[in-house]
This record gives sequence, C-alpha cells and structure tokens, in this order.
Amino acid sequence: MSEKQVILVTGGTGLVGKAIEYVVQNGEKQPNEEWIFVSSKDANLSDLASTEAMFEKYKPTQVIHLAAMVGGLFKNLKYNLDFFRTNIQINDNVLATSYKFGVKKVVSCLSTCIFPDKTTYPINEKMIHNGPPHDSNFGYSYAKRMIDVLNKGYNKQKGVNYTAVIPTNVYGPHDNFELEDGHVLPGLINKVYCAKRDGTDFVIWGTGSPRRQFIYSRDLARLMIWVLRNYTEIEPIILSVSEEDEVSIKEAAEAVLKAADFKGNVVFDTSKSDGQFKKTASNEKLRSYLPDFKFTPFDKAIKETVEWFETNYETARK
Ligand code: NAP
Ligand code: GDP
Repeated sequence: MSEKQVILVTGGTGLVGKAIEYVVQNGEKQPNEEWIFVSSKDANLSDLASTEAMFEKYKPTQVIHLAAMVGGLFKNLKYNLDFFRTNIQINDNVLATSYKFGVKKVVSCLSTCIFPDKTTYPINEKMIHNGPPHDSNFGYSYAKRMIDVLNKGYNKQKGVNYTAVIPTNVYGPHDNFELEDGHVLPGLINKVYCAKRDGTDFVIWGTGSPRRQFIYSRDLARLMIWVLRNYTEIEPIILSVSEEDEVSIKEAAEAVLKAADFKGNVVFDTSKSDGQFKKTASNEKLRSYLPDFKFTPFDKAIKETVEWFETNYETARK
C-alpha cells in the first residue's frame, strides 16, 4: 500500500477551500489520503505560534495554502495596508512552518490581479515581477508576489518543492456575497436576489466595460488537486479559461440576470470605479499539460451558483 498522505488545506472554509472539499468528497479522494480543511478557528495563521501548534496537531505531508485576506476591488481600495501586512504574515508563517515540519509539497495561491498594470497581453507566468501592479490593490499584489519569491528561495536554499497557482477571478458556491467587500459576480448575484425580492433596480457598478476571465471554483478545485499531485515546477502556473472566454462585466451581469430570470430595470452606477480594465491571461502552459481539460460552461456554472445562493440565502456570507 502506498504511503499515507495528510493534506492540510488552509482557508478550507472559503470559496476555493469548500470547492476542493466538494471535489474530494465527490470521487477525487484516494485511499491513502486524509484531507483536513481548516479555518481561522483552527489557527490564526498571522500568528506563528498558532500556526505551529496546528501543524504539530495535524502533521501534514502536503499543504494547499489558500488562507488569505481576500476581497473585491472596493475592499482593496480601502485596506491596501492591511492586505499587505496580513498576507505577508500569513504566507511567511505557513511556508516557514511547512518547512519546519517537513512538508514535502505546498501549493499556494497567487492571482492574475497581481500582474503589472502596464503590460502586454496575454499575461504569462514569466511576467509577475515586471512592473508595478494596478494601484487599486497594490497591498494584496505585492504580498502575493512575495509567495513566488519565498517559493524560489525555499527551493534554491532548502531544496523543497513549494509552488503556486495563479487563478483568474473565481466564483461559485460558498463565495463571499457581501456587497461592499466581495468580488463582482457574488455581488451581482446578491444584488439580483434583492432586486427581485424588493422590486428595485439592478445596479451594475462602473461602466460594465472592463473585461475578466472567470473560473468556476469547482473547476479550479479539480485543477489544484492535479497541481498537488502532478505539477513539479516551482514556477507558478496560470489556471484560467481561454482568452476567447474573457467577458465584459456587462456580459457577466447579463449571465446573472438570465440565471435569476430577472425582468426588472438595469442601471449602471458610473460614479463607482471600474478598477483594472483587463488582466487577460494565457492558459497556454496549462494547456500544454492538460490539453483536454473541460471547463464548466459559464452559463451553467453561474446558474449553479445563483441556485446555491438562493437555497442557502440565510447562512451565506452576505
Ligand atoms: P475566502 O472565501 O475569503 O476564504 C478565505 C479563507 O481564509 C477562509 O477559510 C478564512 O477562514 C481563511 N483565513 C483568512 N484569514 C485567516 C487567518 N488569519 N488565519 C487562518 N485562516 C484565515 O477566499 P477565497 O476566495 O476562497 O480565496 C482562496 C485563495 O485564492 C486566496 O489565497 C486568494 O488570494 C486566492 N484567489 C482568490 C480569487 C477570488 O476571486 N476569490 C482569485 C484569485 C486568487 P475563516 O472562514 O475562518 O474566516
Ligand atoms: P477585480 O477583478 O480584482 O477588479 O475585482 P472585482 O471582482 O471586485 O471586479 C471589479 C469590477 O467589477 C469593476 O469593474 C467594478 O466596477 C465591476 N462591478 C460591477 N458591479 C460590481 C459589484 O456589485 N461588486 C463588485 N465588487 N464589482 C462590481
């Protein structure tokens, strides 16, 4: 029988963590694996002693590191300092503790929003450190970029295999549907629910023209499990739908309206920021490894997410 693997997922109660749990519970778990999903209730990862106590308790052999201070454009605009400090602390603690406890592999999470603002498109894995990120989220971006620095350092100096994935905008069940602090799709899903219930206008913030590649959390989960098991590079890998699948915020909002069957009035609040215009990423590297991977069609995944929110309205983060 193969050696027992203990896989610890930090941020295990969030959008991506819950999707990994779903995929693991629905057929991906291998007999020699134990999966442990933890949240801030198990350990405050910005505190080293608390982080070490949790690793001592579970003794993981591998770590999927998702825990982070996360938020949409409008939360980032307000709290750049907190995003930087909290995420730097969490990432340094998790990687240092992983090394101290002999963890063989760590897969952490970057994001396509951390790339240089002034760049050529499509963005690829080599461009992370080429110039300043968009000013709206410089705190989050610089902290995330340092994961790549840490991974290279741990490999070169200590010889371990710590790597990272770079997802585009993620959405799905268990997202943070808060209006001010969350990302665009959960925000729009919450807004359409309220507009239908209250008979009010559906308001899209900004002009609707910025463009995004969205990835369904359950697709991302399948890909991250593949990365944990099969990807051996230290260089990160972009996990994204194709460039042709990029949509405008207006098109994304239309998909939400269709899934929710909303018939009311739609307005744009152009007093709100548009943020970064686009961050179009190449999935060429992913396709070189997994040419046949099938992403869930956008409309289907949006429908599942809208239905999840409607069913779980009372307990959802909102
Ligand atoms: P999320 O839903 O906000 O979940 C965050 C998770 O981190 C929760 O489980 C939370 O625990 C945990 N956490 C936060 N602070 C912590 C702390 N100090 N100590 C321990 N745990 C802490 O986030 P997500 O959207 O799943 O994001 C997961 C990862 O993907 C993050 O690294 C994020 O940067 C990255 N990412 C996300 C997106 C996106 O669009 N959402 C896009 C690209 C990359 P509690 O439940 O106890 O608070
Ligand atoms: P980003 O992709 O990192 O910029 O973050 P978001 O997921 O917050 O997306 C921000 C983009 O969506 C901007 O162009 C916003 O103007 C637009 N947007 C439209 N409506 C909303 C909304 O209800 N919430 C959020 N967060 N953004 C919205």
